[in-house]
Amino acid sequence: ARELLAAATGDGLDRCAGERDNAKAIAAYASRSDASYVVCDGGKALFEADGKLERLSRADAARFGDVATATFLGTLDGAPLFAVDATLETDDARFRDTRVHGPFLSFSENQVALAATALVTWKRRSGFCSICGGPCTLGSAGHARTCQTCKAVSFPRSDPAMICAVSNRANDKILLARSPRHPEGVMTTLAGFVEAGETFEACVAREVLEETGVRIDEGSVRYLKSQPWPFPQSCMVAFRATADCGQELVLDDELLE
Ligand SMILES: [Zn+2]
Repeated sequence: ARELLAAATGDGLDRCAGERDNAKAIAAYASRSDASYVVCDGGKALFEADGKLERLSRADAARFGDVATATFLGTLDGAPLFAVDATLETDDARFRDTRVHGPFLSFSENQVALAATALVTWKRRSGFCSICGGPCTLGSAGHARTCQTCKAVSFPRSDPAMICAVSNRANDKILLARSPRHPEGVMTTLAGFVEAGETFEACVAREVLEETGVRIDEGSVRYLKSQPWPFPQSCMVAFRATADCGQELVLDDELLE
């Protein structure tokens, strides 16, 4: 059943969410010989020379950071996986930008890299309570924090971001742009962050208009798919929309072409 579910969702990582509060079960996972550790440093992760995600033993991972407070990611093909924050060693040449190299991993390895990046980044940024400023302890195998002063409990957050393929009504042209982050020849669809109090549909219309001057067809926004985008803490939601291709382009300062 698990394999069928994985095939249906395209996600081989079993997050074992129900076991996070069971310290005994987590310790048992950590002591297994097939347990492995992914090491993250902000938006970077440790990769093997051939481009695969590096998965270290507990002893090897301890050189990079505190394995005792490693985050339990779940299991992949039955083997337990943990994520370690590289607080001790970040100069290793094997660290690569997950945003750039993750897409070249297998689907499930990329899921692991993205989950590890999201949770380690959150752990690093959530040491103090956002309500009262008090110090927070880590619980639920790295998936929750509790403020020692006001007792507020906080969890990792994913801020919504959107990306949209805008095509003409005949669906034989697509709106592409180049940001200064990309080299010449690399054009992408348009993306942006959803503002507080805004719907995804309104965000798509606003971002496309702001960046290109193009008004999309009202009611044409259709959901496609989503993926974690922990740079630093988003979930990227993908849409399609149509627009009249006769409109004049007015490029935002953010775009080169
Ligand atoms: Zn607090």
